[in-house]
Amino acid sequence: MKLIIASNNKGKIREYKDIFEPFGFQVYSQSEENICLEVEETGTTFEENAAVKARAIYGISHCCVISDDSGLEVEALGGEPGLFSARYKGLETEHERRLAVLKGLEGSDNRKARFVTCICFIDEAGEEHLFSGVWNGEIAFEEEGTNGFGYDPIFISEDGNGKTTASLPLSFKETYSHRAKAVRKLIFWLQSRSNF
Ligand code: IMP
Repeated sequence: MKLIIASNNKGKIREYKDIFEPFGFQVYSQSEENICLEVEETGTTFEENAAVKARAIYGISHCCVISDDSGLEVEALGGEPGLFSARYKGLETEHERRLAVLKGLEGSDNRKARFVTCICFIDEAGEEHLFSGVWNGEIAFEEEGTNGFGYDPIFISEDGNGKTTASLPLSFKETYSHRAKAVRKLIFWLQSRSNF
């Protein structure tokens, strides 16, 4: 059965290929299928945005589709950057966006934050299945570490022993992250589905 990944991010494509191929799916990226579509993320939640992207591609391809949407929510910033994590305050670089979060928290005692992800899988019958993952932690006082991407240099997870995620080996995220949690739920569901 054919599955299209609603992304052109090489890391994500590799990860989803590794997950789905053992279940008998032939996995293709959006570009491999010549689907040139920049879907506007019009949702008000990660779930909605993941579903909007998956639905748009399902509408064209009528085969299984997977998409995801993630971001960082900082409590004292009213949940920002949230849905706008990739384009926070219109800033160009990840470094500038991290500095904007640090600046926003200046003078605040509350540094609680969490990463959230939602995966949407549309099956062959067009039914949507959502899998979410949350990773709690707090925002550091300064950037530290070079591993990972995005907000990793300023995120200290609850299981990170006081270290930013970017200071820990990449294998740490593979076990504990928001995405790892959502992916585990998806795999569990795929396993139970293939038992029928
Ligand atoms: P996406 O929806 O997975 O592309 O994530 C949107 C944005 O959220 C990214 O561009 C990052 O800024 C941020 N983000 C999501 N997941 C992570 C993570 O694991 N570490 C750091 N930043 C992340």
